Amino acid sequence: MGNELGDLFYSQRMKMVEDQILKRGAVSSKVVKAFLNVPRHYFVPSDIRKMAYEDSPLPIGLDQTISQPYIVALMTEFLEVKKNHKVLEVGTGSGYQTAILNELSKSIYSVEIREAFSMKVQTLFDKMDIKGVQFKVGDGSHGWKEEAPFDRIIVTAAPKKVPEELLKQLAPSGKMIIPLGGDFQNLFLFEKNSKSELTQKLLLPVVFVPMVQGQIYTR
Ligand code: SAH
Repeated sequence: MGNELGDLFYSQRMKMVEDQILKRGAVSSKVVKAFLNVPRHYFVPSDIRKMAYEDSPLPIGLDQTISQPYIVALMTEFLEVKKNHKVLEVGTGSGYQTAILNELSKSIYSVEIREAFSMKVQTLFDKMDIKGVQFKVGDGSHGWKEEAPFDRIIVTAAPKKVPEELLKQLAPSGKMIIPLGGDFQNLFLFEKNSKSELTQKLLLPVVFVPMVQGQIYTR
């Protein structure tokens, strides 16, 4: 990205990382590096591209949103993703969180219920030459049975209560981050120890789009 526009976006990205992420608390250098590497403006619809680095969620169509950078950073940080972790993402959406995860782990599995989003992200990843991400269209509340267990699970749409199948598909010593609730939601971290005993922590109040359960949207 040697051109002027690319440079402009890079300086906006640096500013986003400094003002919205680093000033608000400790984030590991791995996560900072991921945020600097991933061009967020590729994941935002072209008519609002210049807003890509703003401190807010943005519409991506079909009443869905790309999450606010700070929330993506927080969730990524809490998840403590390592290169060898097998990671399940529920809610591909714009693919931005997927691309951040791809910087941190070699095997990402991303499920999206709205086919149009998944197809768009798959095309974008091909163009960006991003490999190592497997996509599936379906109801992610059931996880991805054939590929389970997962060391890390991240959910970016809010169900009312935690889907049991996701907990089952979490490996020993695994972590899952998930927003839960209806009108009022909280972000939770579920952790299994090496004996698969489960604990849960309430992290903070959040606003996510509701998780759709059962019905698959085709184009
Ligand atoms: N991480 C995404 C968030 C997108 S919003 C981003 O920052 O762009 C949440 C996404 O979850 C939407 O794309 C929505 O279609 C999807 N979703 C909702 N319910 C789902 C379900 N049951 N299974 C898989 N994806 C779901």
